[in-house]
Amino acid sequence: MPDLRELYQEVILDHHKKPRNFRKPEGANKKAEGFNPLCGDKISLFLQIEDGVVRDAGFVGSGCAISTASASMMTESLKGKTVAEVESLFERFHDLVTGRTPTEAGTAGLGKLEVFAGVRDYPVRVKCATLCWHTMRAALHDTTDTVATE
Ligand code: ZN
Repeated sequence: MPDLRELYQEVILDHHKKPRNFRKPEGANKKAEGFNPLCGDKISLFLQIEDGVVRDAGFVGSGCAISTASASMMTESLKGKTVAEVESLFERFHDLVTGRTPTEAGTAGLGKLEVFAGVRDYPVRVKCATLCWHTMRAALHDTTDTVATE
């Protein structure tokens, strides 16, 4: 799928150069740290959750293009979603990048996040793409230990 590959590179490079939500939201009330020792990706993830809805999301950290782009696009996609919707999105994204049997909901509704299907071809990169998602989930569940992909 050459088209998807081109899109993948274009979108990921754009988000790597200009990460969206690269900040700590003022009203953040959930936070978690993530680390991917395989690549050296580090992320601090912040969520502002009110009445079970993600009002704001942001991140700071340093990492490779894939991890930065993934966090950038993830934080964009979380805003306005309920915690239940976020959990469902996590499952679908995870299935998408690992290429496992999709959940019942499939990968529908992932929108732009579907460009990350390209990382399936690069197993080492799957951890870069999923680091922010695991960290986000830890923030949701108030996990205080640093999330490590290993
Ligand atoms: Zn990485």
